[in-house]
Amino acid sequence: MSERIYDLHCHSTASDGVLSPTELVQRAVEKGVNVLAICDHDSIVGLDEARAESHKQGIQLINGVEISTIWTGQGGNRGVHIVGLDFDQNSLEMTALLAQQAELRLQRAIQIGEKLELLGIPDAYQGAKALASGEVTRAHYARFLVQIGKVSNDTQAFKRYLSAGKPAYVKADWVDIATAIKVIHQAGGLAVLAHPLRYNMTNSWIKKLVMDFAQWQGDGIEVAGCGQLPNQRQLVARWAVEYNLLASVGSDFHFPCAWIELGKSLTLPDNVMPIWAKFA
Ligand code: AMP
Ligand code: MN
Ligand code: MN
Ligand code: MN
Repeated sequence: MSERIYDLHCHSTASDGVLSPTELVQRAVEKGVNVLAICDHDSIVGLDEARAESHKQGIQLINGVEISTIWTGQGGNRGVHIVGLDFDQNSLEMTALLAQQAELRLQRAIQIGEKLELLGIPDAYQGAKALASGEVTRAHYARFLVQIGKVSNDTQAFKRYLSAGKPAYVKADWVDIATAIKVIHQAGGLAVLAHPLRYNMTNSWIKKLVMDFAQWQGDGIEVAGCGQLPNQRQLVARWAVEYNLLASVGSDFHFPCAWIELGKSLTLPDNVMPIWAKFA
């Protein structure tokens, strides 16, 4: 059998991706991906459409979600993303958690709009919402700020307005990591610590996070991502081995661009156990 290409983390229009679930599956096929998980932020509403297209295209779709959580381990509150894979999308526990997260997201989105209004940028909530077809995320606010010419790109929007500590930042009381893991398990899925090197923490703090995650019965960690340096992948692979975590792979693709692509350079080192060994 030819080599299988996995991509277990990407986004559709159900959250802040720009491709519809159908388009995302079609692009995955073009890029040679045969096993795809769509992990929208706190949402699984894209999965049915994606599944229908995956059947047409003959690739395997794994149920996915990226849950926004809070880690209190570093003294303060830290936003950490937990990916759920291969769970029952009709699970009552998962449905209840995502409903609660959606409500937090809505309230936060409205508050971000109010903050921007005070900063002299009116109607931002309506503007961001108009750019979203699912959950309203900070990425939609960033795109709105670009659209009205307040900033020239998304990075600038986060730097000036939307990142933690910036004037339009609003903290949300996302679920804690242990609860997110528990709910993913209740739904029969696997819990994965997403993009461990993208939290803007020192390596020793990240290691503490990985330790907590493993202690709370987390299953896996994203070892291979797009645009990593080889030594970064080796470092996360060593943590996976040390804490007995399965290894996942994900591009975190949001939109077509020069540097991130579905299925691109996601090879796992030999010393780790791939998470797909545990797929049902
Ligand atoms: P939210 O889940 O609503 O807080 O939005 C977070 C999303 O915004 C992330 O998943 C990224 O897609 C995007 N994002 C976060 N930080 C940045 C950044 N500095 N530049 C561009 N996009 C970002
Ligand atoms: Mn995103
Ligand atoms: Mn993330
Ligand atoms: Mn993501």
